Amino acid sequence: MTPTISLPTTAPDAPARLPALLELPNDTIKAWLAERGQPPMRAKQIRRWILQGRASAFDTMSDLPKGLREDLAANFTVFSTRVDKHLVAGDRTHKLLLRLADDKLIECVLIQDDGRHTACISTQVGCGMGCVFCASGLEGVARNLTVGEMLEQLILLRNLTRPDERLTHIVVMGMGEPLANLDSLIQALAVAGDPEGLGIGQRHVTISTVGLPAKIRQLADLGKQYHLAVSLHAPNDALRTQIVPTNEKTGIPEILAAADYFFEKTGRQVTYEYVVLGKMNDQAVHGRQLATLLRRRKAHVNLIPWNDVEGLQYRRPSDLDLNSFISELEKAGVSVKVRKRKGSEIDAACGQLRRQAEQVAKP
Ligand code: SAH
Repeated sequence: MTPTISLPTTAPDAPARLPALLELPNDTIKAWLAERGQPPMRAKQIRRWILQGRASAFDTMSDLPKGLREDLAANFTVFSTRVDKHLVAGDRTHKLLLRLADDKLIECVLIQDDGRHTACISTQVGCGMGCVFCASGLEGVARNLTVGEMLEQLILLRNLTRPDERLTHIVVMGMGEPLANLDSLIQALAVAGDPEGLGIGQRHVTISTVGLPAKIRQLADLGKQYHLAVSLHAPNDALRTQIVPTNEKTGIPEILAAADYFFEKTGRQVTYEYVVLGKMNDQAVHGRQLATLLRRRKAHVNLIPWNDVEGLQYRRPSDLDLNSFISELEKAGVSVKVRKRKGSEIDAACGQLRRQAEQVAKP
């Protein structure tokens, strides 16, 4: 029988590509199955194989009829992305460079530490925020990722854990601005949180944002228990606008007000991320200003010493500067930690691998 369901097609001159199952709504899959006389519960069975059974091909789905497995393989792929590069560091950090169906590249990372298995995922191809120190935004944003593409990153990373392990945490800290793709992100996280999906609790999910006040409020109103991390990076508007150009439109007070609203609504303490750029935002005076902003808030500060990005001239802070910055915060009673560096030998910081791959590809 010829299918009458309309499935996404590729451009006429592109090599034929089958649609990925995870990209399709459940109803479409059920209708496709019904045309073949298959019961609707098969849709759930197939999804369970991918989400929980670690299947990456239809022919391994052993409780499906053989004919159906062949039919599925002739019409769909399990995943829409292909692994272009897979790097593993000595500390078991894995990094994947994924090629999307339209040949664009994204990155995602698995960080394994103290019994935790954390997936760091991207939400966009590139980034439109233009933070001056970051590799992801150097070429701007190409497009938002789909729900399926975000889910796929989680599944592919989970499949790299050992069979007796599973993903325990998600950090939405890869390429892109998560709140600029909020609706799709929320749908992907819903599957991630579903016990029939990946079973990762909301409190184990951190969404990191450059600070889009209206979107932070929208997220707060969803009544979810996700953890919010706001990339502040500077304690005053003049310096922040220099480092995070979108700050010109928002300004720190509005971002803090939106973060306070998030805390009020969810009861979840907000983390402030602060990329430490040597001699730029790491002086004691900056520490004192930051302490003044945050001392009356229930907040936590995560300091991230800058990771080198080829072609950019910023510096990591000296130990002396970093320590006096930290002590200004501690004196004011602000909770602060320096983020541990993981997988540094495989360029685990976001956007770097893709950039190298694209530079090699350029004539
Ligand atoms: N768009 C989101 C997610 C960005 S990635 C946001 O702005 O929060 C997560 C964090 O890593 C952000 O705080 C980001 O500013 C930081 N980051 C990006 N590139 C970095 C680099 N080269 N060194 C250190 N931190 C970096």
